[in-house]
Amino acid sequence: MSEDAPALAIDRLDVRYGARKAVDDVSVTVRGGELVAVVGESGCGKTSTAMAAVGLVRPAAGSIRVNGVDLVATRGRRRRELLRSIQLICQDPYEALDPRFTVEDVVSEPLLVHRVTTSGAERRRLVVAALERAGIPSADSYLGRYPHQLSGGQLQRVAIASAIVLEPEVLIADEPVSMLDVSMRAGVLRLFADLRDAGIAIVMITHDLITAAQYADRVVVMYAGRVVEEGRPDVVLSSPLHPYTQALLAAVPDPERSRDTARPALPGEPPDLAALPPGCRFRPRCAAAIDACATIDPELAPAGQRASRDLHRVACIRVEAARSETASGRAGAAPAEADGTRPRLPVRSTEGPVS
Ligand code: SF4
Repeated sequence: MSEDAPALAIDRLDVRYGARKAVDDVSVTVRGGELVAVVGESGCGKTSTAMAAVGLVRPAAGSIRVNGVDLVATRGRRRRELLRSIQLICQDPYEALDPRFTVEDVVSEPLLVHRVTTSGAERRRLVVAALERAGIPSADSYLGRYPHQLSGGQLQRVAIASAIVLEPEVLIADEPVSMLDVSMRAGVLRLFADLRDAGIAIVMITHDLITAAQYADRVVVMYAGRVVEEGRPDVVLSSPLHPYTQALLAAVPDPERSRDTARPALPGEPPDLAALPPGCRFRPRCAAAIDACATIDPELAPAGQRASRDLHRVACIRVEAARSETASGRAGAAPAEADGTRPRLPVRSTEGPVS
């Protein structure tokens, strides 16, 4: 283990399902106390990346380092210890929690699996502490309840408690609020911000750019198994350079935009991952494509001069054209409004009611 190693370093990861390249040469690094949002349409590879990171899918290539130790190359007891450090929170708490298990059963299970303690009293103390850390007040009174006796927000907090009861260094949350009512989302998202501020490295998978903008320290945009753009949310979301990111932003509902001036949805469908088009895989949907895009498969490359952690990277051969279009208020696949405005995206605000 290295003192300076990031909590999670995914490097050149490939995940394949038969001929389908679900994840293709993806690298993502997350440090303790950092929240990275991975965004993109369904099927872009973000969930497969998460599954590989927690050891549920075996990669075809690449490494997944937890505090500098490669999970892919590790076996036996060391692997189990590593897996204890990196926990997954699933999208649907209604399905994730067994209806026959009480709250205490659910949150105790990781402690039993990893043989953390043989003392029932100590186990209960750890369960109550995790529930309280997950924002369930008077946690003692919830221990005997079953999932059907809890609200959606409480269910997700129980799921989070079962993930943090082992005190992991990395949390991977797969669409953690997509199944929740709007009234409960802010509270659960704020909990993730608190866990991040307590030093946990968090990967939040989401298709919701507003969520990414509000809570993330960095945004990683994936398309058809690849990272196509990454950087700080204020940079990526206010000055997107990849036409796909521009199109995602164009799809953000804007209450001030009338139905008559609504932007068109992203045209077409994502490509078949078993038969990717030659050149840039976004080309069939890209209004900014030129002939060279049919032969060049663009690599993720720096688009700015900032220090490495703040680096804005883009995988598009027309970055310079996109930059000048962005600066002048125009964009490739999804033009901004005639006055140059873009959707107003709040950045990293943790204010809001707790649910
Ligand atoms: S490389 Fe070409 S096709 Fe791909 S996103 Fe850039 S402009 Fe569009």
